[in-house]
Amino acid sequence: MGNKIVVPTPIAGVRLTYQGQDLKRIYIHEQFLPLLQQVLDRLRLRAGLVAIETLGIYNLRKARRSSRLSQHAYASAIDLAGFRVQHLPEPIRVDRDWTTRRPFFRLLEQECLRASAGHRYEYVTPDDDPDLHNDHIHWGIWPDD
Ligand SMILES: [Zn+2]
Repeated sequence: MGNKIVVPTPIAGVRLTYQGQDLKRIYIHEQFLPLLQQVLDRLRLRAGLVAIETLGIYNLRKARRSSRLSQHAYASAIDLAGFRVQHLPEPIRVDRDWTTRRPFFRLLEQECLRASAGHRYEYVTPDDDPDLHNDHIHWGIWPDD
């Protein structure tokens, strides 16, 4: 199942929360960690990102509507549901703000795709899959091993 490691949070100065609670550590594939670090670091600098609400990173399961393993089974993907940024009283949420916060979500996609360069990746938004991804963005890579 690849090289899954445990790392403490925050990552690149950005907190990770699950159901509003700070995660103290995460399980993540060692090939995906530097990519996530890069995205969080750049979004912190460019958009004042202070925390992300995730729906999950590591989850040993099959992909939806498929028999193969999900990228989450390798801990090489993250489900992104919300983004707390400086100077905004409320987090930006995929389910509520997808159509009204286009510049932020364009920046997010730009950074995730930049970090994915050289990897086989998936980036799934509410536009791509309104049924299963209306409340989060899935970003992940297929590890090399
Ligand atoms: Zn996902």
